[in-house]
Amino acid sequence: MTANTIVIIGAGEAGGQTAITLRQNGYEGRVVLIGDEAYVPYERPPLSKAFLAGEAELERMYMRGADFYPENKIELKLSTRVERIDRAGKSVSLPGGETLAYDKLMIATGGRVRKMTCPGADLTGVHYLRNIDDVLGFRSQVAAGKNIAIVGGGYIGLEVAAVAVKRGCNVTVIEATDRVLSRVTSPEMSAFYTDVHTQAGVKIITAATVTSFGGTGKLTGVVCSTGQTIPADLAIVGIGIIPNVELAQSIGLALDNGIVVNEFAQTTDPDIYSAGDCTNHPNDVLGRRLRLESVPNALSQGKAAALHMLGKPEKYAEVPWFWSDQYDLKLQMTGINDPGDTIVIRGSMAERKFSAC
Ligand code: NAP
Repeated sequence: MTANTIVIIGAGEAGGQTAITLRQNGYEGRVVLIGDEAYVPYERPPLSKAFLAGEAELERMYMRGADFYPENKIELKLSTRVERIDRAGKSVSLPGGETLAYDKLMIATGGRVRKMTCPGADLTGVHYLRNIDDVLGFRSQVAAGKNIAIVGGGYIGLEVAAVAVKRGCNVTVIEATDRVLSRVTSPEMSAFYTDVHTQAGVKIITAATVTSFGGTGKLTGVVCSTGQTIPADLAIVGIGIIPNVELAQSIGLALDNGIVVNEFAQTTDPDIYSAGDCTNHPNDVLGRRLRLESVPNALSQGKAAALHMLGKPEKYAEVPWFWSDQYDLKLQMTGINDPGDTIVIRGSMAERKFSAC
């Protein structure tokens, strides 16, 4: 390994794992980890579960304690957004005119929430959930008796619904497609989760979008394309993410629904790597390229990139997997659901103990 400085843009799980793997594998050069949030790298899954429910301390979500970084000589630059990459000069520009030279660069910029654009979308009371500050911005308002409208019936929407109804809120989920979890699972699983939520008291409206958020200054209700108006003190929007590819795009790296990388997380510039939600990578097991929004993908790509930088290549080729906690149920999923898949149920859906193959 000849590199002297490795700069990592993005202090999420992919970026954090890259830095950790570099040090675990004996890299002694300079590592700079730059993130635009104020926190050391943390695990996002608890945000819509235990952290929202107030059952997980902030520090419990950190990938490594705050001391780990100085102890391992990982230079952290938090609350900092990289402004520019100079690919020819091999440097990145930070606010205030600072420039950092790199030998190898990691772009682990993740994704940002897709936002609502309908009238009233800027009202106080309309929230999104992607990071710690988002949750801190509305968590205390998820309280007994509150009317909560959840826009989007994906993992974010359903996990938030489970926490909110358990706290005694009146919860309505508004989903654009004809079933919840439609992007990630089969119609059978969608029907199962619709039943679970309905029995818990959540109202689910499918094939409906929000046409406007109503209220004067502050949200009071959500108007749906079905014509219904749902009373709402709070709206939490989980309608998917947009990969952050702009920095990569600005320097001419190949893009195709994400930053194009190979099985070692290397982009079309051999000195620049990319990992996590923002990448489009080949998967040998599935026999196709894909962009995956999942924690295991972020961690494994971060590892693969670091090892490749160190001259110890280990191909990233894993079966994708996911999990979701809602109520006392744990969903574990491996592989990718494709439209038209035939589903075989083993076990008992009624007893809530089964596999769907
Ligand atoms: P998601 O999985 O893409 O689900 C969002 C859902 O909202 C989709 O069904 C989407 O339909 C629908 N939608 C889009 N626009 C809408 C609108 N205007 N009104 C109503 N519904 C609308 O995204 P997410 O739940 O926001 O999650 C964001 C990311 O975090 C994803 O990568 C997700 O996998 C990840 N996450 C994962 C977990 C887990 O693995 N347990 C937990 C939380 C979050 P269309 O598909 O038609 O757009």
